[in-house]
Amino acid sequence: MGALVPSRAMRHKSVMDAASGDAGIDGRAGQGIAPLQLLRTVGRAVVDYALPPRCPGCGTIVDGDRQFCLGCWSSLDFLDGAACARCSIPLPTAVAGTGVECGACMADPPSFSGAPAAVAYGPVARTVALRLKYGRRTGHARLMAGLMTRKLLALGDPADMLLIPVPLHRWRLWSRGFNQAAMIADALARQTGVPRDHHLLLRKKSTAALRGKGRREREKIVAGAFGLAADARARVARRHLVLIDDVHASGATLRSAAKVLHRGGAAQVSALTWARVVPDALTTGNIFDFADVDSDMVVKR
Ligand SMILES: [Zn+2]
Ligand SMILES: [Zn+2]
Repeated sequence: MGALVPSRAMRHKSVMDAASGDAGIDGRAGQGIAPLQLLRTVGRAVVDYALPPRCPGCGTIVDGDRQFCLGCWSSLDFLDGAACARCSIPLPTAVAGTGVECGACMADPPSFSGAPAAVAYGPVARTVALRLKYGRRTGHARLMAGLMTRKLLALGDPADMLLIPVPLHRWRLWSRGFNQAAMIADALARQTGVPRDHHLLLRKKSTAALRGKGRREREKIVAGAFGLAADARARVARRHLVLIDDVHASGATLRSAAKVLHRGGAAQVSALTWARVVPDALTTGNIFDFADVDSDMVVKR
């Protein structure tokens, strides 16, 4: 079986894409993958090439690369229902309408004008994100990008856009070997033609885990975490900058990064992620009282 895929690439392309590392759209080395990790990634791609394709959600053998099995596909929530116009948190249908924002965005508007995600954060979305983050499954970045493309193109004119992956601090980049957000941005750039820039936004400090922290505390932790490259202004001016990350949890990281891009002179800032954490409290009606995980703090299993 195996159902509904964003694209069907030839299997040898996986090897070629991995081997190209982070050359990316503009040909410059960036945060996608560190040179010393390249061999491992190529090795992984070769192993993937030799084995039958498996569902990225549960590991069941499927017909083709980057196909979910029917069960996993059916379990994904593509977040097409009523939502906050700015941060995309689901809203009760009775409240939602064109341009309606959630209480958190009205009380403290973020610097991004929209923040869609491909899917809600659930068991399958989580597995895919973790396998990219810790398993170096580079094919998963292409899978995620394929399902993010529709939301990206709905944000505005692609000709004005520049993709900005949320950067890792260099210590974390060294220890992990690659930045999963940069790999998703690379894949999105390849699939849509929208350019990406790995060097515009900088991570100036390594931030502590945000999980379990209150809102004020999270804001304090990420304050000053980001900065712009010295030559960034000319690249930012009049552009629609789209932050790219794997998981949108509390939004503190995206808010902090968006603020820096906005102050840098961007015409518009958006944030696009693979998965949006949707509070369980939604079902109880208490949708704005939510302490959650941060994308850097998704627990490895
Ligand atoms: Zn599956
Ligand atoms: Zn909102």
